[in-house]
Order: sequence, then structure tokens, then C-alpha cells
Amino acid sequence: MADAGRIRRVVIVGGGTAGWLTAAALSHLLARIVEVHLVESDEIGIVGVGEATIPQIRTYNGALGIDENAFMQATQGTFKLGIAFLNWRRLGHSYLHTFGDTGMPLGRTPFHHYWLRARADARFADLWAFNPNARAAGSGRFSRTPFAMGSRTGVVAHAFHFDAALYAGFLRNFAQAAGVARTEGKIVAVNQNPESGFVTSVRLESGDEVSGDLFIDCSGFRGLLIEGALKTGYQDWSHWLPCDRAWAVPTRNVAPARPYTQSIAHTAGWQWRIPLQHRTGNGHVFCSAYVSEDEARETLMNNLEGEPLAEPRLIRFLTGRRNRFWNRNVVALGLASGFLEPLESTSIHLIQSGVSRLLALFPHTGIDPAQVEEYNRQCSLEFERIRDFIILHYHATERTDSAFWRDRRAMTIPEVLAHKMALFAANGVIYRDQEDLFTESSWLQVMLGQGIDPRGYHPMADQLPEGDLAGFLSDLNSVIARAVDAMPTHEDYIAAHCAAAKP
Ligand SMILES: Cc1cc2nc3c(=O)[nH]c(=O)nc-3n(C[C@H](O)[C@H](O)[C@H](O)COP(=O)(O)OP(=O)(O)OC[C@H]3O[C@@H](n4cnc5c(N)ncnc54)[C@H](O)[C@@H]3O)c2cc1C
Repeated sequence: MADAGRIRRVVIVGGGTAGWLTAAALSHLLARIVEVHLVESDEIGIVGVGEATIPQIRTYNGALGIDENAFMQATQGTFKLGIAFLNWRRLGHSYLHTFGDTGMPLGRTPFHHYWLRARADARFADLWAFNPNARAAGSGRFSRTPFAMGSRTGVVAHAFHFDAALYAGFLRNFAQAAGVARTEGKIVAVNQNPESGFVTSVRLESGDEVSGDLFIDCSGFRGLLIEGALKTGYQDWSHWLPCDRAWAVPTRNVAPARPYTQSIAHTAGWQWRIPLQHRTGNGHVFCSAYVSEDEARETLMNNLEGEPLAEPRLIRFLTGRRNRFWNRNVVALGLASGFLEPLESTSIHLIQSGVSRLLALFPHTGIDPAQVEEYNRQCSLEFERIRDFIILHYHATERTDSAFWRDRRAMTIPEVLAHKMALFAANGVIYRDQEDLFTESSWLQVMLGQGIDPRGYHPMADQLPEGDLAGFLSDLNSVIARAVDAMPTHEDYIAAHCAAAKP
């Protein structure tokens, strides 16, 4: 029986970003332990979006030995320092949610308490002046070179924007070079052990069967194995995050690529702009209960900066997650495991953290319920914390100009999030929960950016004499300004290190 034995053969169903990311890691890191086989259907194709990332992707690439400049060249990549949120708090307002630190702590007291104490002084009013990423993003500069920041070394923390189709091809080449066997064909049936329910093989339209001990379901929204065969069930989170469609369209570049993503809130959703070397990716995520597909398409087309390079494409989704990410001998990754809208570019990260957990708990001697339970526990927590962070953007808003925004303000939010917001509003305290992907700096920027204003700050910030506080903030401000002024422009940095061939 498959459930009793060693895991020798892993079958990955699906060749989108999830499938090839998984194949790349398993083949690279477990080459002598398991054989990896991937099945994909050219006829069905891939979702083909997913072009903005967060810095954790660098750790994953590093573990696979991927050279960052080669990767950028192959995917028409640009550097990403964060996301600019326009019209989210109110029409005409904008703020940045950047990666990396904001300021630096003094002893045990987080930086933002000193800033909260000093912000009435006009010289220190702007929190983002103490954030190297924000200053670099604002002036269109980028560098990977570390710089001295007081007693610490500062860096601008970065992630990437890339072309999703080129990324899938890049991963496929990498995984196939590492020994992954690939079968092209449409799966028409899933065979299961009648006693255990474990999946034993998948049957292709051609009649061929691909059998395995462990199956990774990367089949996209359809969840061919996790749902189609195992009926795992889905937790619907659309009462918190009701956007259920997106129009996506690429455009010609009109200016040098910004080193950040833009997220522009509209009447019933928001629009992304993702700058690449050869084009810009655009999309409008919207809620069909408040705006029709035609209206949403028009909003997108009226808010493009460059000439469209294709017809807009509609994608439908339902926010939520599978009841179990790992069920019997099937682990679901990518869109097959659940969906959170791309507001904070977290989906590719969720694939990578799922693969990392699977590797940490790898059931090479046979699947044990304790491993499955732990995997599901960790994935659930991570999904929920990201969900809450996304809800924060919608709920903490001053917008009342449409029914969509009025309803988001009025909705009941998850208790954990309500508690976090209340703690911050009271005296600026931020707690980072277990499995919370987002750092204190992220929560700080988005809570302040969305208009939550703490009534106080930690008393330890008052320990510093007034003159010392002003000196500390002025020094930090000028060190960051000097470091950023010395950086090349984003455009020049790409030209010098990772320019892609013109398509
Ligand atoms: C509008 C939108 C915007 C997004 N933006 C971002 C972003 O900016 N950043 C981010 O991190 N993520 C983003 N995502 C998520 C990201 O696109 C996905 O996480 C990523 O592309 C992984 O997709 P996938 O591989 O799970 O599924 P897919 O790309 O759909 O791949 C599914 C695979 O399964 C195969 N398959 C399916 N059925 C069968 C069958 N019967 N037989 C054989 N093969 C089959 C298909 O051929 C395909 O190879 C976005 C998603 C959406 C919808």
C-alpha cells in the first residue's frame, strides 16, 4: 500500500509557477532520495500572472544556487523595493509599504516609539524618511551595496518583478537540468487505493498512467487531486475579501521602470502596475457584486500609462483556502491550495514556504499523521496571518465614496486582527505572531498608512533626553539620505548588472 511505504517517487501535477518551483527544489535538494516526475498540459496552459514578489524569494533562489543577475536577465526582471498604495486611505492619499527596516531600535525599544514621540517636530514628521527603501523608491534609485547606518549595516531590502511566462520557463529549464522527468498530456482520471483513498496514479488522455508515492497538486484553481479526487473542501473567505475577478493586460513601457509596484484603489477594487524591463503588467482586481465586468474592464483601460500590447484577459477566483493543504498522500501548492488576492504579492511566497515545510517534514519513510498535522497547522497559520494583513488595507480606510468601501469599513474582521489594530491604536505596540510573514515594519507602515494613529507610545522612548533624541533622528536621517543619494538610478543599475535582451 502506498501509505505504508517509503516515498521514492514524487509526482507533481501541473507545470505553472507552483509545479516548476516545487520540481526545482525537490530535484535539487532530494536528488538522491526521490525521483521527481511532472505532468502538465499545454492545452490547458498556466494562469500566467504572478509577476511581483517579496524578498523571501531570494532565500529560495539562494538555496537552489540560482544566480540573481542571470535570473533577472532571463525573466526581464526589475528590482522591487515595496508597494505604493494610492487612494487606499482616501482619494488622493498615498503611502509606501516597503521591505526592510524603518529606522533602527535603541536597545529594546523599537524605533517607531521614538518617532511617535518626536513626530510633532516638523523635521521628523515623515516616518518614511527613516526608511532606506522608501527613500530609494521615491528617488528611483537602487543598489545592493550595504552602507553604514550608525552601529549597524543598512541595506535596501529587495525582491523582484518578472515576466510570469519567462519565469515558468526559467524554472522548467532549471528543474529539467536537475533531472525532473516531464510528461505532456491532459489528466483525465485519478486512481486511488480503495481502502486508504491514497492516490496511486493519474491517467492521461493518451491512456498512459503516471504512478507515484507522493503527489503534489499544482493543478491551479481546479485542484484536480486535492478537491477533484479527495474532496477536501474549501473555506470561503469572501465575506472578508470579496474581490472575485481580475482583468489583466500588458502595456508598452512609457518611462524607466519604477523600483516598486503600484496599487491604485478604485471604486470596487484596485489596480496593479508592475514594471518590467520589456513591458508593464497591469490588472484590475474587483468585486463583481459591486461593479460589472464591463465597467471594471473600462476602469482598467482608462487608467493605463502605455499602449496595451494584448486584449485584456479575465480571471475568476474565490478567496479562501482548502480545509487541509496536505490530505492523505496529496499536498496542494499554489492556486490548488487556496487563493489570496495579490495585494501584497504573497502567492509565490506561499508556494515557496509550502515547499520548504514539505522539505522540513519530508515523509521519506512513509507518511505519518503527525507530519501531516504539523504541515497543515503551520500552513493554516501562515495563510490566516496574510489574510488578516490584506483585510487591514480594506477595513482601515476613510473612504466612503462607494458602497464597496463603506461595506469594507463596516464589516466584522477576524478577532486576531481587531486585537492587533486596537493594540497599535492604544500606544503603538506591534506584536508579530507565530508564522506571521509580515514584520513589525510592515505592520507599522500599513497601519499608519491606512490612518490608524496611535494615542501614545512606549514610555521607554521618554528615557532619552530631548537633545539626544533629536541628534539620533537627525543623524539617521542624513546617513540614509547620503547612502541613497550615492546609489545609481534603478535603470542604470539594471543596465550595468542584469539587462535582458530586447524581445
Ligand atoms: C490576478 C492574479 C494576479 C496574481 N499576481 C500575483 C503576484 O503579483 N505575485 C504573486 O506572488 N502571485 C500572484 N498571483 C498568484 C500566482 O499567479 C500563482 O500563485 C502562480 O502563478 C502559481 O500558479 P499555479 O502554478 O498554482 O497554477 P497554474 O499556473 O494555473 O498552473 C496549473 C498547471 O496545472 C496544469 N493542469 C491543470 N489541469 C490539468 C490536467 N487535467 N492535466 C494536466 N495538467 C493540468 C496546467 O496545465 C498548468 O501547468 C496572482 C494570481 C492572480 C489570479
